Amino acid sequence: MNIILLGAPGAGKGTQASRISRRFGMPHISTGDIFRANIKNQTEIGLLAKSYIDKGQLVPDDVTCKIVENRLQEEDCKNGFLLDGFPRTVNQAEALERFTHIDVVVNIDIDFALLTARLCGRRVCKECGETYHVSTLNGKTNCEKCNGELHQRADDNPETVQKRLDVYLAQTAPLIKYYTEKGVIKNFTGTDEPPEVLFQQIEKVLEEYR
Ligand code: AMP
Repeated sequence: MNIILLGAPGAGKGTQASRISRRFGMPHISTGDIFRANIKNQTEIGLLAKSYIDKGQLVPDDVTCKIVENRLQEEDCKNGFLLDGFPRTVNQAEALERFTHIDVVVNIDIDFALLTARLCGRRVCKECGETYHVSTLNGKTNCEKCNGELHQRADDNPETVQKRLDVYLAQTAPLIKYYTEKGVIKNFTGTDEPPEVLFQQIEKVLEEYR
């Protein structure tokens, strides 16, 4: 089962991706995570990616597509994978088609009014990547799961968030039409309810593809 998770920044893709990947046993491939790991390790790709990410812009397609193409050739992707945050442009979607096929696109549609507060209040565990929202942390600064330190992503500030949402509307939202026309999209509505509620709906649909 080869899956794409589509949705605006803050729609809950990462949270749903972790659950889907655990439930169906496929690797969760997040281009954002790959870039952040490269930034942390100060690689050449990391340096390049940082200059775009800090401005809320997309990393150029050629760099991003090559990373995904290489990652999908790894052994653990043989029986399926879950792409989170890729493709983000129609150009990336067309490139992806040249090196693999996609069974289903899970699109999480969400009211934009919810997103800015969600992203600006997001805190992420430095160790395991678990995400929280400041409104539920009651001042806690460590992860409930692994006790790692929580931090705010550099691009989760109001100015960059606005830019990321603009970029989503201009460059990524056209993928909804693209995959609708290909007949592979399944649409879900993201809400402020606990993630389990949405996950159960996604799980039910994905079970049909097994
Ligand atoms: P994310 O963690 O998915 O929100 O991604 C964080 C940032 O990484 C984005 O705002 C982009 O700058 C960059 N990025 C992640 N995925 C892609 C992609 N498929 N194409 C271009 N840039 C990306």
